[in-house]
Amino acid sequence: MAAPKRKTDIGPPHYDQMLHPAIKANYGKWKSHQNLKPGVLMHEGESGAKVYTVRGASARLISITTIREMCDLADKYCDGFLRYTSRNNVEFMTDKEANVEPLIADLKAMGVPVGGTGSSISNIVHTQGWVHCHSSATDASGVVKVVMDELIDYFTSMSLPAHLRIAVACCLNMCGAVHCSDIAILGIHRTPPTIDHDKLGNMCEIPTTVASCPKAAIRPAMVEGKQSVEVIEDLCMYCGNCYTVCPAMPIANPLNDGISIWVGGKVSNSRTKPMFSKLAIPYLPNTPPRWPEVSDAVKNIVEVYARDAKKYERVGEWINRIGWPQFFEKTNLEFTKYHIDDFTLASSTYNSSTHIKF
Ligand code: SF4
Ligand code: SF4
Repeated sequence: MAAPKRKTDIGPPHYDQMLHPAIKANYGKWKSHQNLKPGVLMHEGESGAKVYTVRGASARLISITTIREMCDLADKYCDGFLRYTSRNNVEFMTDKEANVEPLIADLKAMGVPVGGTGSSISNIVHTQGWVHCHSSATDASGVVKVVMDELIDYFTSMSLPAHLRIAVACCLNMCGAVHCSDIAILGIHRTPPTIDHDKLGNMCEIPTTVASCPKAAIRPAMVEGKQSVEVIEDLCMYCGNCYTVCPAMPIANPLNDGISIWVGGKVSNSRTKPMFSKLAIPYLPNTPPRWPEVSDAVKNIVEVYARDAKKYERVGEWINRIGWPQFFEKTNLEFTKYHIDDFTLASSTYNSSTHIKF
């Protein structure tokens, strides 16, 4: 497939320049694929060509040195080709079966776990966290590290009922896929932004700041003779959008920020339609560097799911089969007032059918 001629120099190069030659030759002509073992896939083309993929874990933020080491492995075994998946796995593809085991041995020697394919937990997709983002209510890389330390056996085996996707977003603007993952770890603010009235007039445009709020909670106000804004706290949903627009309205609060856990989302439309994640645990405290409450909570949900779900059932499908009361009972989680969706537009999500079983 030839890349179309570019009209501008804006944007990334066409992806076909980076495909392994064996993949390019069989593009769109695949016959089947197999999960040979945890972390190893084999795709077979209509021509009979076979391509082996070895998947390793990778942190989302990695050093140049680590990237160079990965590239050296790609040079050694994969004709110089590798790719990163949207969940930050690194995948090495080769058409030589004899390369698979030595590649796995080299990856393990580098400390890179191999797995994440089939009915396993794949790498956790996550956002920037305290490393980069001004809005974060928690860290992302740190939380991912401690959770995967607990769940690594589910990455390197295919022992779960179905594949299980975990996502972390460090605020509810959710640059991660928390809205549609089997288990979602979501940083939350619980207090409105503070306002630095001395700086706001110099740092921010008031109309833009007012317009930044999705809840219309910000209004212009005169404070001690200065033009500024006020926040109607009852309307604020602590999203932090205003802080993105106006640096004089910081929202991070070390005592009140924390983490919520959501379950049951999926993107796939296999068997059942895609589903949004729903609230399981409204708040856990921020307890770096190991966040034990968060890793324990996620591990508990994974273990109950692993024991109780039927083969091929995703977390959301399992919960829908047993019912939410059973989910809370089996996982020993508390059902609270925060689980009731009372947002203005929530009525459109209620079960309004008359077919209700008691
Ligand atoms: S999820 Fe929120 S805090 Fe995290 S990187 Fe995205 S905008 Fe920033
Ligand atoms: S945090 Fe969100 S809801 Fe609250 S005032 Fe800022 S933009 Fe509005």
